[in-house]
Amino acid sequence: MKEIILCKYGEIVLKGLNRGGFENELMRNVRRRLKPLGEFDLRSAQSTLYVTPLDENADVDEAYSRLKKVYGIAKLCKAVGTEKTPEAIFDAICERSGEALRSAKSFKVACKRSDKSFYLTSPELAAQLGGMILEKFPHLTVDLYGPEVTVFCEIRDGGAYIHDTAEDGAGGIPVGTSGQALLLLSGGIDSPVAGVMMAKRGVSISAIHFEAPPYTSERALMKVERLAEKMSEYCGRINFYTVPFTKIQEEIKRSCPEDYFTLIMRRLMMEIAQRIAEKNSLTALITGESLGQVASQTMAAMVTTDAVCRMPVFRPCIGLDKKEIIDISYKIGTFEISIEPYEDCCTVFTPRHPKTRPTLSEVERAQSRFDFEELIREAVDGTRVKEIKSLK
Ligand code: ATP
Ligand code: MG
Repeated sequence: MKEIILCKYGEIVLKGLNRGGFENELMRNVRRRLKPLGEFDLRSAQSTLYVTPLDENADVDEAYSRLKKVYGIAKLCKAVGTEKTPEAIFDAICERSGEALRSAKSFKVACKRSDKSFYLTSPELAAQLGGMILEKFPHLTVDLYGPEVTVFCEIRDGGAYIHDTAEDGAGGIPVGTSGQALLLLSGGIDSPVAGVMMAKRGVSISAIHFEAPPYTSERALMKVERLAEKMSEYCGRINFYTVPFTKIQEEIKRSCPEDYFTLIMRRLMMEIAQRIAEKNSLTALITGESLGQVASQTMAAMVTTDAVCRMPVFRPCIGLDKKEIIDISYKIGTFEISIEPYEDCCTVFTPRHPKTRPTLSEVERAQSRFDFEELIREAVDGTRVKEIKSLK
C-alpha cells in the first residue's frame, strides 16, 4: 500500500487574503527539498499539503525527515489513502496496522471528519471500525485513555486517510515570506541559531563571514561553510559572502586605543555588512548577540554598534541564556560543528580590558584616529560569494 505524507499547515491558515502566497512559497520550498529524492506530487487542500510519491524509488522516509525541517508545517504524518467506506478503511487499517494490533493488548480508533457530507459522524465511524477490529482481533480491549495502539482515520474531501499519531513539524512560516536579511555568521554557537530562528519567521537568509588570514585559517572558513550548509536544511539555499578583514583589523590595532578594539571592529563589520546587503537587496542584518553575554554585547556597546546602522538589526538570541541557545543549536544540528576549535577573527586581537560601558562619543573619537573608508571599500570589493545548499 502506497504511503503518502500529510503536512498540516500552521500559521498559514490564519493569513486571510495573503494565504495563497504563503502556500505557494511553502510548495516551492518543499519541491526544492524533495527534488533529489524522486518524483513527488504536491497538492494543497483543506489546510493540508499532500505529498504523494510518483515513482517506485522515491524515498518517502527521507522525504519525511526533510519535511520535518520545513517551516510552515505544524504537524505531519505518513498515511495511506483509501475509499470512504468503512470496509475499505478497515482493510487499510489491517494492512497498515495489523501487526501492531496483533501484538498489542489495547487500542483506540480516533476519527476526524473534515468532509461533513460523509454519512457517519466521527464517533459513529470510530464505533463501527472499533467493532470490526474487535471481531478480527478478539484478544484486544478498547482503551480510550491510554491505548497501546491508536489508529487515526481522517475523512477528507478526496478520500479516507489512515495514519499513526501526527508528529510536530518545524512550525513557523515559510522561508521567503518575510523578506531577505544578511546574517553575520561566525564559527560560534550563537549566530547559526540566530539565522535559523529568523528563517523560522519566514526570512530568507544570506550569510556574511569576516575572515582574517593568516590569523584565521582556511579550515576555519571551511568550518563556517559547513555551518551554513547545516543551516540550509532549515533555511534553504544560502548566499554566503566572505569578506577579507585582515587589513582592517591590523589597522585598528595600529591606530586605535586597545580598549576599543572590539567595538570598533564590530562597527566596521556592521558597515561592511550593510554595504553588501544594500548591493544585494537584503533589507536587514541579523547577529547572534545575547544581552550581557560578553563585553561587546552590553546595551551600551550595542548603542555604539547600532549607531552606524541604517537598517534594522535583528538579534533573536538577545533574551536567551547560553544554555537555551545551546539547546537550539543541538536541535538544529549546528552544535557539534560550532564547538570545533578553530580561531575566529574576533579573537585575534582581543583587548585585555574591553569597555563594557562605552559612550558613543568615546568610541567615535577612538575610531576617528584613522579614516577607514578606503579599507572598507577595498574589503567590500574583495568580498567573494558562493551559494551553499544542503547536500542532504
Ligand atoms: P557567536 O557564537 O555567534 O560567534 P559570540 O557570542 O561568540 O557569538 P561575538 O564573537 O562577540 O559573540 O560575536 C557577536 C556576533 O557578531 C556574532 O553572533 C556574529 O553575528 C557576529 N560575528 C562575530 N564574528 C564574526 C565573523 N568572523 N564573521 C561574521 N560575523 C561575526
Ligand atoms: Mg564568536
